[in-house]
Parts: sequence; C-alpha cells; structure tokens
Amino acid sequence: MNKGSHSREIPGKVTSRTLNTSLYAYFCPLCKHPRATRIRPEIGTLRHYAQVALVTAVVTCALFPWLEWKGAVSFLPLWVIFELFYRSRLRESLKCTQCGFDPVLYIKDVGLARKEVEAFWSERLKSTPEAPATKNSISSTVSS
Ligand SMILES: [Zn+2]
Repeated sequence: MNKGSHSREIPGKVTSRTLNTSLYAYFCPLCKHPRATRIRPEIGTLRHYAQVALVTAVVTCALFPWLEWKGAVSFLPLWVIFELFYRSRLRESLKCTQCGFDPVLYIKDVGLARKEVEAFWSERLKSTPEAPATKNSISSTVSS
C-alpha cells in the first residue's frame, strides 16, 4: 500500500529541513513552487545597528590619528552600504529559481517583472537543447 512518496525526491522541491531552518516559507505567486528564505525583510533591527556600529568602531579606530572622534560619522555611509548590500541579498533570495519571478521588481514595475520572466524563460530555452519549433513559438509570442 506504500507508494513510496516520502522517499522520492522531487527536483527543485524545498525540503522540510530547509523550511524548518528558514524564517519565511512561502509559495511563488507565479508558479506555486515552495520557496523559503532565511533573510528577514525588516531592515533596522537591533542586530543590524550593532553590526554597523561595530564596523564603525573599527573604522573610527583605524582613522583615529587622522580624524580623531569625527570618524564616528562614518556610521551613516556604512549604513547606506549595509542597506544596499542587505536589500540586494534579500532580493536575490526572494527571486524564484524555477520561473524567474522577482516579487520586489513586481511591486515596483509589473511590466519590467514580466519582461524579466520572459527573459528567464527564453534563456532557459536557449540552454536546453529542445526542438527548434518551441523556440520559434516562444519568440513569436514575445515579439508580438
Ligand atoms: Zn516561481
């Protein structure tokens, strides 16, 4: 009676262990593929401030002979760098690997997100040695 569904691995499926260790589990709104990320979408938690403050302390100590305590102002540019890096990491983790859907881009511009998904699929079709009739039908639908 056991069909062996528990032992069978589905390619690209997020395992339950990954879901347990990740903070956020969700389904891709486009392809319904289970997705998970460990990166919190909130920026500005106490941990983030502590990390940037620690780097600021190191930079202040390194530049102390030149700037003295004015080096503490480096907190602001360091925070900007941290936020840009964090947001780019979060965006990469949210992007679906199965269909190329980018939810952050979708919130900003639906047309650009649609073009990115089309580019993802045309790139995937180029990389797989499939029948050329499939490529022609996709490219004709993209161009129209
Ligand atoms: Zn997807």
